[in-house]
Amino acid sequence: MSYSLVWFKRDLRWQDHAALAQAAAIGPVRCIYVIEPELWLQPDCALQHYEFLRESLQVLDAHLRTMGGCVEIHTGELPEVLTRLWREAPFSGLYSHEETGNGFTYARDLKVGAWCQANGVIWREFVQFGVVRRLKNRNQWQGEWEKHMASPTQEFESLTFWRSPSPEPFVMYAPGHLRHNPPLRQMGGRKHALETLHSFLNARSLGYRGGISSPLSAPDACSRLSVYLAYGCISMREVVQQTRAHIAQLPPLASRHRAGLTAFTSRLYWHCHFIQKLESEPAIEWRNMHRGYDGLREQDFDFEKFEALKDARTGWPMVDACVTMLRETGWLNFRMRAMLVSVAAYPLWLHWRPVGEWLATQFLDYEPGIHWSQLQMQSGTSGINTTRVYNPIKQAQDHDPKGIFVRRWLPAMRHIPNTWLFEPWKMPVELQHSVGIKVGFELATPIVDLATATRESKHKLHTLRKTTEVRQGKEAVVEKHASRKTTPRTTKAKPINTNSDQQLGFNF
Ligand SMILES: Cc1cc2nc3c(=O)[nH]c(=O)nc-3n(C[C@H](O)[C@H](O)[C@H](O)COP(=O)(O)OP(=O)(O)OC[C@H]3O[C@@H](n4cnc5c(N)ncnc54)[C@H](O)[C@@H]3O)c2cc1C
Repeated sequence: MSYSLVWFKRDLRWQDHAALAQAAAIGPVRCIYVIEPELWLQPDCALQHYEFLRESLQVLDAHLRTMGGCVEIHTGELPEVLTRLWREAPFSGLYSHEETGNGFTYARDLKVGAWCQANGVIWREFVQFGVVRRLKNRNQWQGEWEKHMASPTQEFESLTFWRSPSPEPFVMYAPGHLRHNPPLRQMGGRKHALETLHSFLNARSLGYRGGISSPLSAPDACSRLSVYLAYGCISMREVVQQTRAHIAQLPPLASRHRAGLTAFTSRLYWHCHFIQKLESEPAIEWRNMHRGYDGLREQDFDFEKFEALKDARTGWPMVDACVTMLRETGWLNFRMRAMLVSVAAYPLWLHWRPVGEWLATQFLDYEPGIHWSQLQMQSGTSGINTTRVYNPIKQAQDHDPKGIFVRRWLPAMRHIPNTWLFEPWKMPVELQHSVGIKVGFELATPIVDLATATRESKHKLHTLRKTTEVRQGKEAVVEKHASRKTTPRTTKAKPINTNSDQQLGFNF
């Protein structure tokens, strides 16, 4: 009996799974996940990604077992695994979702395509998000996104499996070289994805407007769906449709809630918009989106500054607290991610690629398309975005005025009186002595003078930006990558009050 091979990748769900639904409509299916040793050797991989994947696969496997099947876990490079399975029992077709991943997965997909061609196998790939393969023109993109999100979810009517699952329990061992698994990270699996979506729609999204900028309120106010979208435990279409349905049934007076959920829906659009950039130009993972910026920072990379940033020793409490929180939880809100990259790119003058590799291992929700586009945007090398430089002292004053956040993640800051909260290095030595803290020991002193270093870096960037070559190159980037989205004007929301209980809601 022949069967269709369903290849799971970062789409670890059974509902709204086009590949599974289409394969099931034809006949028996055989579901596989392939652990690719080369993939896990890439510099953007971490143990937390593997463990999250394992948890999600375990849930998927358990669900399929209730229907008489399972997910088989195979190890090896794709062509070799496909050959093995084919020799065991030839399959009638290969079914999977399209993936816009890193350079490795791009090259691997080319090899899979070649294998299918050589073996006369039809490989059917299905759209996973609002990302368009072989997009000719960005002008139609928004319409395509809307069409995909409004279309019905893809569900199977019945599911038959090629053979019964082996009775052995689900086991997946992590490769020994992988490091970094934050103790407070989110857990994998569809159940957690659905709980996160529902707690957000029903309660937490009330704080979305005004709550997403501060690292104090953001862990609860933000949806926290990024990692579930990145691993496909829930589909983007499910999130969009359930959010729209939720908005539709809100009472007329729930304007704040409605505004929050509308802003959230825009971000779901941005998710695909950013991934589309990498889909259209895979090279932006390594090289500047605007080639006119080549050479801007490459020669000046200062490893000591980079190490200080990674070790939470820059001396700016807000930066060091964010690095610590990220290390412990695998997550940070957008503004604080942007601030970290901005500090790396401007006062520390670090090239975005090594910084991005490090952050990729730190972010549980690492999604190459969003990640590399944002890294370039925040470092000023996309060529189409205005320079946004985040001052870490001002960010602390605006978003953590009472020092709750920095004291939480940097224990030494608990000794610092409020007067010196934002610039503890300026505290008189006698006072340091009396509170039992020596700046430069328990707390780092800033590794560069913030104002001078930022001014110099902006000057270098703006000087290059004014050259004819860079000005002329901008058009092509706009044509290929810029958003055509028209967004209605919204009024700025007041920040909500935050208290320490609220931050504990997400367990950190
Ligand atoms: C330097 C940098 C790197 C980033 N790397 C990633 C990454 O690897 N993976 C990732 O999912 N997000 C990334 N982001 C975007 C954003 O910070 C996260 O999506 C967000 O913090 C995740 O939390 P949430 O799901 O609670 O977000 P919410 O605010 O609830 O947003 C809902 C969803 O919209 C999408 N989204 C939100 N903000 C953005 C944005 N600015 N651009 C694109 N999509 C967005 C995400 O899918 C997110 O889950 C990055 C941002 C920066 C500045």
